Amino acid sequence: MKILVLAKLHPEGVRVLREHAEVEEAYDLEEEELLKRVPGYDAVIVRSKPRITQKVIDAATDLKAIGRAGVGLDNIDVEYAKSRHIKVVNTPEASTESVAEHVFALLLSKVRDIPRADQALREGKWIKKQLMGQELFGKTLGIIGFGRIGSRLGEIAQGFKMVVLAYDVIDISQRALEVGAEVVTLETLLQKSDFITLHVPLLPSTRDMISEKELSIMKTGAILINTSRGGIINEKALFAALTAGKVQAALDVFEQEPPTESPLLTAPAIVLTPHIAGSTEEAQEKAGIEVAHKIVEALSTF
Ligand code: NAD
Repeated sequence: MKILVLAKLHPEGVRVLREHAEVEEAYDLEEEELLKRVPGYDAVIVRSKPRITQKVIDAATDLKAIGRAGVGLDNIDVEYAKSRHIKVVNTPEASTESVAEHVFALLLSKVRDIPRADQALREGKWIKKQLMGQELFGKTLGIIGFGRIGSRLGEIAQGFKMVVLAYDVIDISQRALEVGAEVVTLETLLQKSDFITLHVPLLPSTRDMISEKELSIMKTGAILINTSRGGIINEKALFAALTAGKVQAALDVFEQEPPTESPLLTAPAIVLTPHIAGSTEEAQEKAGIEVAHKIVEALSTF
């Protein structure tokens, strides 16, 4: 078996693969290089990059399985792979804890204005009076998408004694009951929440799901957090709402990554991180090992 690892995988994952297959690693390939490189491999493993398009799949003449160390499959043409009987596996559980904790890192940074406090102090400014924060205790957290990450977040929020509202397109009543969340409509969630966090996949139905209209019905000063995918919040509409003082935001993901040209980089009331919600040692190790086992299993059934 020959496996090509196309994005940095945790060493433990590579070790598992090497027990069963010949493994090569090649990172940061442009599509042209990728097309030349993939023939002859039984499986490829990616993270959020590179893109495994129809063209790449066609070039990979021996391909039987595609592994994604992580959750989102939006960089893989899954339908086309399936039509070619190529298995696609991912590691949906591996980053749940890591992303859920990062949401609280962002939220606490925002309510206590930690980035500004840190910067001011380094500049020799003691701006204590301007740094009046807000508690999470008793506040309402609205969770859009109550799957693995969303519902885990709900559990953590109970520790802060927050009121948790949840919205999803599937029946989440049982999980909501376990977590102690109230299931509401999207409109109610937008109207009632002090903090709103997104945990839906990027689909045609979720693209721009938070735009001008949704932002307009949020509470003034509400904090909007996105660690799911860029494109779910319309960035132009968000920029307008931030500059108007309507909402605040904390983003880990962007329509274009890195967001070098984005006006959000200079917007007020926003905290930004570079798509690191899933980037913990623990999550990367879990994803690396899990994807390696799943790829070995997928190939062994051929
Ligand atoms: P999940 O599949 O367990 O949950 C997603 C939930 O969204 C499901 O319950 C689904 O029914 C719901 N949903 C789908 N469409 C919806 C809609 N239109 N309105 C409301 N709910 C809708 O996924 P998860 O493991 O919780 O991950 C969520 C997302 O987080 C992933 O799709 C991925 O894009 C993102 N993610 C980001 C990072 C990061 O590093 N920033 C890491 C891991 C995952």
